[in-house]
Order: sequence, then C-alpha cells, then structure tokens
Amino acid sequence: MQYIGRFAPSPTGPLHFGSLVAAVASYCDAKYNQGKWLVRMEDVDKPRELVGAADDILRTLEAFGFEWDDADVSSSVVFQSQRSDIYEYYLDQLKRDGYIYACTCSRKEIADSATIAGIEGAIYPKTCLLKPALQVSNMQTNGPAAYRAMVLDKNISFMDAIQGEVKQNLAIDIGDFILKRKDGLFAYQLAVVVDDALQGITHIVRGADLLNSTPRQIYLQQLLGFTTPHYAHVPVVVNAQGEKLSKQTFAKSVTPEIAPVLVFEALCFLGQNPPAETKNDTLSEVWDWAIANWRLKNIPRQKLQTYNTL
Ligand code: GLU
Ligand code: ZN
Repeated sequence: MQYIGRFAPSPTGPLHFGSLVAAVASYCDAKYNQGKWLVRMEDVDKPRELVGAADDILRTLEAFGFEWDDADVSSSVVFQSQRSDIYEYYLDQLKRDGYIYACTCSRKEIADSATIAGIEGAIYPKTCLLKPALQVSNMQTNGPAAYRAMVLDKNISFMDAIQGEVKQNLAIDIGDFILKRKDGLFAYQLAVVVDDALQGITHIVRGADLLNSTPRQIYLQQLLGFTTPHYAHVPVVVNAQGEKLSKQTFAKSVTPEIAPVLVFEALCFLGQNPPAETKNDTLSEVWDWAIANWRLKNIPRQKLQTYNTL
C-alpha cells in the first residue's frame, strides 16, 4: 500500500518543541513505511499569521534535516492561502447537496440565545436554519454570511493508532460548525479535509490537540465522498505548569544549532528510547537511527505529556 503523510504547520510563530514532536512523528512514520512526506503551510487564517513565520518554519525544518517530497509538479509546499478557489468549489458542492446553510448571526446574538454547552463551547442553536423566511431561500441572505455544516445526531467513531477508539456525536458535542466565516475566510476544518484528500494523504500523524476535530473531518470526508485516512494522534507537549507550548506560554523556538539533541529529545518524548549515545551523534546518524527503529506502538497513549528538560 502506498503511504503519503504530511506535516501541516500554521505559521503563527516559529517552530517550538511541541511542533517539532509532531513533525518528527509524522516524518519517521512516513519514512519507516517507505512513504512520501509532504509539508503544507496552513495559512488560511491570515489575520493570525505572524509575518515571516512560514519562511522561518521551512528554513528550520530544512536545517533539522527534514526532507519533504514535492507537493506537485509546480510547488514543493502547498500554501492554503492560495487555494480559496478550490475550497469554494467544495463548499459549493456541499451547498448544492444541501448539507450546509448560511448563518448571519453575530457572536453576540449567539451568546444571547439559549445555548447548550458542547466540548468546544456553545452548541449553535440552529437559529438561521429555523428562521422561516430564511428557510425558503437561506442561500440568498443579504449581507455577509457564514456557512455552517449541518451535523447529525449519531456517533462518529474511528480507531486512532495511538489513542484507541474515539467516539463523538457531533450534534451533542460540537453542533453545526462553520466552514466559511462571515469575513470570507475558510475554516481549518474544510481546508484540511480538502487538502488531505487532494494531496492523497493516507496517514495523518499529528498532535492530540486535534483529536476533537477528527470526527468533524471524517464527517466532511463522508459528505464530499473522500476516503478517510488513517489517524494517529501523538501526545501534546505540556510544560511543568501543564500548559501547551505556544507563543502565549513563552515556548522557546527550536534552534538548529542543537538539532541532533532536540531530535533525540523528541524521540524520547515519543517513547522511542534512543540509546543515550545517540545524543552525541551527527544529525544524519540520529535520523538513521530514528527511522530504522521507529515504533508507532511505543508512543505513550496519552493526550498530554509533560516534558521537563525544556
Ligand atoms: N495546522 C494545524 C496546526 O498547526 C495542524 C493541522 C493538522 O495537522 O491537521 O495546529
Ligand atoms: Zn445564524
């Protein structure tokens, strides 16, 4: 079977140890399985982007010795910001098939309406779907509208290669979720599903912070007629205070000068038990060891894991 994996960073800041762990895990799993490994820049959310971060991430990956395959004949890396037309095409397909509806609610209107809590905040009470006037022609609303996917009251479950069986009922846990925002930007959930499918991704290895998003992505894959890839969610790195590494928690960016040590540390975090001497090896020796000895099953079955030496 052919294997195509990927690493899909958002350019909101430089690579830190948490993102390095996700990169190392997806890379080793792809290389160990003689697969391809693609890099995709998830810069749909332009307002959240840090200027220069995309370039910085790619240069850092290169300096760490990651070798990615070309995304297609014309580009080595796919940038989501250049793919609005493609996302629009699939949004239109969902529109035609009647799986989505326009929503003109403001944040305040939603906050003021009676809502039930889901796992990621309030469940949208379907106000716009239920408005009689809009029901007739809910695609011809005046002014800017967001588009929401209508979810079903049934379980979506999948077998995660690390976390085991994951089950979610989108109606109870999430609610009708946004695919395109009122400001015209496409949501991560739609962009990631379209890109994973068009790039032929077969295996997704990423941080467990995305575990709650996976059922939404599987649901969209079903609506769009895409194959569901295999999923493996690695533990998220948290600091001694239990906080996810990020700009907000002042996570240090990774420095290529000590790349072999950091890859070694990432392997330790991922339960790979590299021999202590590996720490002093050259970068290419560390990668050779990592790929030859990769064991997905040794990754701890945890959603969060502290890493203290950082
Ligand atoms: N761009 C997302 C992030 O950096 C990752 C998306 C994914 O791997 O599916 O959090
Ligand atoms: Zn609405």
